[in-house]
Amino acid sequence: MKKIIILALLYLFSSLTYASFEVQKITDNVYALVGELSQRTKTNLGNNSTHGVIITSEGVVLIDSGASYFDAKEIHKTIQKLTHKPVKIVINTGGQDHRWLGNDYFQKLGARIISSSKAKIDQQIRADEQITRLDLLIKDSLKGTEPVFASETFDEKMNLELGGVNLELYHFGAAHTAGDIVIWMPSTELMFTGDIVFNDRMLGIGPAKDFQSWINVFEKMAIFKPKYIIPGHGSVSNLSLATHNTYNYLVFLKTKISKILDNDGDMLDASKIDQSKFHYLKNHESIAGKNAQRVFEKMEFDY
Ligand SMILES: [Zn+2]
Repeated sequence: MKKIIILALLYLFSSLTYASFEVQKITDNVYALVGELSQRTKTNLGNNSTHGVIITSEGVVLIDSGASYFDAKEIHKTIQKLTHKPVKIVINTGGQDHRWLGNDYFQKLGARIISSSKAKIDQQIRADEQITRLDLLIKDSLKGTEPVFASETFDEKMNLELGGVNLELYHFGAAHTAGDIVIWMPSTELMFTGDIVFNDRMLGIGPAKDFQSWINVFEKMAIFKPKYIIPGHGSVSNLSLATHNTYNYLVFLKTKISKILDNDGDMLDASKIDQSKFHYLKNHESIAGKNAQRVFEKMEFDY
């Protein structure tokens, strides 16, 4: 009997998983929930990304719903420490797992779910693949996760208002994923960028594999001259730091690979590019080489 109780207790403690967020307050009623910078794990519930929270008089707008049902629940618990107002709107900034796999949780609470039409298609195409990968990485923490897609979509621009707060949603083209968007909050000069901006960690040329479009999208976003950037990964920053961490790195890869192609170089030369000036970004050991390869493949194809 004693043995059974001990085993039951061990099981209970091993199932107590949670995701932790660093909550960064940006302006009155706007927060960033900054998740881990490392890979998705059972303990972070698949969450290694940054989310946005806007508290209005009529309820909360959440930017990105998390990578799993349990992750969404942890995001909700974190929001409840900031306000008791309900989550009314969830915006998915793209097609990557942590942007949308928590939709089901928030939809059941009555939230409207919004994404670009391209992001919705991307999510529909890659849902099975994303769930299979998460199943390997986060195991039990994926329990209860059901793919639910946005009920409201837009092609290029959407205006949104909740509790007197106006938001402008823009899809400028593919970046990290095919349907990435930015959310502009004019009253605070604040931009939520999803995976269009990576801070603190090295970006991965994502599923869209279109670094040139990503460069163009970043330029269109930068025209707004945001005072604050809430990125898809890492801490809140200004535009200049976001430019250095994301835009300059993309342009650096493009310039280096272009020189290699001009000299009839090959993939091996691409993998030898000295990327040390970006080694201050976390995860560079596992990502830098792959990025160079992906840019090389794309540029060689277009050459
Ligand atoms: Zn991401």
